Amino acid sequence: MKHQGSGLRTAALYVVATPLGNLGDISARALEVLRGAAAIACEDTRHTRRLLDHFGIRTETFSLHEHNEAAASERLLRLLREGRAVALVSDAGTPAVSDPGARAVAAVRAAGFDAIPVPGPNAAVAALSASGLADPHFLFYGFLPTKEAARRKALAELKPLPCALVFYEAPHRIEEAVADLAAVLEPGRTLVVARELTKLFESIVSLPLAEAPAWLAADADRRRGEFVLVVSAPPPAEGVSAEAARVLELLLAELPLKQAVKLAAEISGASKNALYDLALEKKKSQD
Ligand code: SAM
Repeated sequence: MKHQGSGLRTAALYVVATPLGNLGDISARALEVLRGAAAIACEDTRHTRRLLDHFGIRTETFSLHEHNEAAASERLLRLLREGRAVALVSDAGTPAVSDPGARAVAAVRAAGFDAIPVPGPNAAVAALSASGLADPHFLFYGFLPTKEAARRKALAELKPLPCALVFYEAPHRIEEAVADLAAVLEPGRTLVVARELTKLFESIVSLPLAEAPAWLAADADRRRGEFVLVVSAPPPAEGVSAEAARVLELLLAELPLKQAVKLAAEISGASKNALYDLALEKKKSQD
């Protein structure tokens, strides 16, 4: 493994997570990489310059965002071919997670170079860690569709999954997104609204989904800032585990009701009667 003078690997792309708000969250390794790299590919150079100035880092920057990712990747590859270490950052958090970067990383790896993660802040993981939800599994969805019909359809598909759901949402869409969560998902599921994480007005509130639209409407401050929404896993149906319900759901999409129930019972070991009741309930809610 070759290293350049700075202690960094040569001809490698470092994918560097940066703070969500609190600059103290930058890691010692992230600073070492940002300082030692030949250049930093940034989602927005002006935004990253403020971070670099704060830490007295003079490394050259160039922009790599959604609209120039192909051309900027070429520039990045040229640097790697010259044997340089390059860093990649987004405006906040982890690059390529609901942020640009994935295509550049793919191009780098396809060209035979290494992409090295420098892990750190991520809004979804920060929200989950302080949510208090004990569900063993979660699905990170990122941003829901912006149009109501598409959003509700996406939520209906997510509804039966036996895991907590994690969404990103912008302040101007928070009310409609929460209204749809409450309309489509089970009203008793817990919603955790994690707002302005690591910033001055950080707040993390848990409430039943059914109460969330009124809670948001009651105070404009609750709708300001950046949001992660975490919804607890669905309650297991009476006598049927979440896993068995999921198996049934999948089979019902392909088979007649009786056959789906029989197979689901065989696969999951759940009671045939309980599955039958659940299947009827699901059918009724679709009619
Ligand atoms: N790559 C970032 C990450 O690792 O979390 C996410 C970038 S995505 C474009 C921006 C979204 O992340 C925001 O709309 C919001 O949903 C969420 N987010 C970012 N910073 C946040 C914060 N401080 N508090 C709550 N949510 C945040």
